[in-house]
Amino acid sequence: AADLAMYQVKQSGRSNYQFYTTELDERAELAHMLEVKLRTALRDGGLRLHYQPVVDLKSGKLVGAEALVRMEDKEGAAIGPDKFIPVAEATGLIADLGEWVAAEACRQHDAWLREGLSATIAINVSPLQFKQASFTDKLAGIIAGSGIDPSCLEIEVTESAVMENVTEAIEILQRIKSLGVKVALDDFGTGYSSLSSLSTLPLDKLKVDQSFVRRLERDPASRAVTEAIITLGQRLGLDVHGEGIESESTLRYLAAQGCDQAQGYWFSRPLPPEEFARWVREKGLRDRVMARG
Ligand code: C2E
Ligand code: MG
Ligand code: MG
Ligand code: MG
Repeated sequence: AADLAMYQVKQSGRSNYQFYTTELDERAELAHMLEVKLRTALRDGGLRLHYQPVVDLKSGKLVGAEALVRMEDKEGAAIGPDKFIPVAEATGLIADLGEWVAAEACRQHDAWLREGLSATIAINVSPLQFKQASFTDKLAGIIAGSGIDPSCLEIEVTESAVMENVTEAIEILQRIKSLGVKVALDDFGTGYSSLSSLSTLPLDKLKVDQSFVRRLERDPASRAVTEAIITLGQRLGLDVHGEGIESESTLRYLAAQGCDQAQGYWFSRPLPPEEFARWVREKGLRDRVMARG
């Protein structure tokens, strides 16, 4: 009987294992396919940055853009970063990708400046890249090589990346800030910040996570969290930035609460560089873009 029980355990163990591996195989295959695509894209120039306008809520004017990476398929369809950034992190390709993003954003900033378009550009830095010892040096090299005014460049790092090891994060942030670059805490409100740690971080900006912003109109709890973040940011002397603004009423609410900047589909989706420049020209850089949507 003992043998039989053992046999049954082995049998079910094996079939579980098989079930499990099929699913894992599929996931591994997908990840592998994305890795190959990403390597090819990095080599052959298949990556693009799209830019989403950032609007100052007091003046109603465009102040900057967030650069968001896209990978182009052979057919020209774009693959979003939520799919390939995790693969880039798992394979170590994130370092090359991050360097490309920083260099391309600086290049674009310079090209726009020559056209008379001046906008601060924010780039996203993955938690892994943020912790790589070589990151700050590479960033310094890219900035020096491009001639960009470093105060026109902003680094976005997620709250969770920073809070994982606050002491280490402070050192890295200080090095980044010593380059003259601005630093924003992205997706704020979801990463279990220690509030006392937050006050010790050398930051310029908090970006209120979209999950709160998008629920502002129907969810009192999201309003409570958003208002608390705005007050906290103000008291710490930081800019507060709302992302994921999809309606005029959300925009008005955030402006009334004293939120400094905003971005979202209400203004514009992230756009390829040519379309971004056209958007700015059409809206008029000196005009109020705020209430027009
Ligand atoms: P994120 O930095 O929080 O960027 C905001 C995301 O929200 C973008 O998605 C943007 O397209 C989207 N979004 C903006 N406004 C709205 C809105 O009103 N409604 C809705 N539903 N969505 C809105 P995207 O471009 O797919 O990027 C997703 C995430 O991928 C980013 O989140 C960021 O964490 C990461 N990412 C993007 N580009 C890069 C990059 O160059 N490097 C790294 N390491 N990560 C990146
Ligand atoms: Mg971001
Ligand atoms: Mg965000
Ligand atoms: Mg995010």
